[in-house]
Amino acid sequence: MPDNPRRVAIVTGAARGIGAATACRLARDGMAIAALDLKAGACEATVAAITVAGGQAIAVGADVSQADQVAAAVGAVAADLGPPAVLVNNAGVIRDNLLFKMSDDDWDTVVSVHLRGAFLMSRAAQKYMVDQRYGRIITLSSSSALGSRGQANYSAAKAGLQGFTKTLAIELGPFGITANAVAPGFIATDMTAATAARLTMSFDDFQASVAAQTPVRRIGQVADVAHAVSFLASEGAGFVSGQVLYVTGGPLS
Ligand code: NAP
Repeated sequence: MPDNPRRVAIVTGAARGIGAATACRLARDGMAIAALDLKAGACEATVAAITVAGGQAIAVGADVSQADQVAAAVGAVAADLGPPAVLVNNAGVIRDNLLFKMSDDDWDTVVSVHLRGAFLMSRAAQKYMVDQRYGRIITLSSSSALGSRGQANYSAAKAGLQGFTKTLAIELGPFGITANAVAPGFIATDMTAATAARLTMSFDDFQASVAAQTPVRRIGQVADVAHAVSFLASEGAGFVSGQVLYVTGGPLS
């Protein structure tokens, strides 16, 4: 290991959207990146963007809701890049439906990827962080945690992640590890494009209507979220822990 090694960051769901942007941003901040998604191959573009810019990155395949895959993936990161010091729990799915139409599978899939996934990834990564007496765990919550029509599963998972984050902050703080949540509002990604499709609106119309109701009069971009994660992942943010940072273009009513 060199005298001043790069911190290793794992970003889940890094193939696209907020995860890809966050992986690239943390690489620009000087971290070595493990870009994790369901299939390692899906992260090739993220890894290429980082390495072309002079950074260091590897692609890792794992389903974050599967304990054996998570254990293998985090172990492989530690072996290939070094012990993880930063974890961004970003992988996510939506299965929107009104409660009376929501299937057991809609519920289980969303709760499993978000809540169980963040639990498994954090449990696997924390032991490396405890050994280093340093760590940053940042978990993607959502403004939907406050309630969102058609998203009983997603709202419950995203609210649960806020309690999970505060508990990690309490348990892991003595080891130099902070845990925080970032709760975005509407960010333009494939996920919100899917929501527009469910509402039978064009994505352009959907974005315009959300922007009109947002104090800063625009929708969020992936770089807005990556910037917030970058702050919470930085060494200087060591006294900020157990917080939920809303990235919503204004206060929520
Ligand atoms: P996205 O574009 O749908 O990307 C999500 C990524 O996660 C995809 O690459 C997906 O892989 C991956 N993924 C899904 N299930 C996985 C699993 N079990 N294991 C590993 N990877 C998995 O989503 P996004 O809009 O960037 O959202 C990223 C995070 O921010 C999510 O947690 C989301 O809930 C949260 N968020 C988003 C918004 C928004 O407005 N976009 C707002 C608030 C919060 P596949 O492509 O193979 O499915």
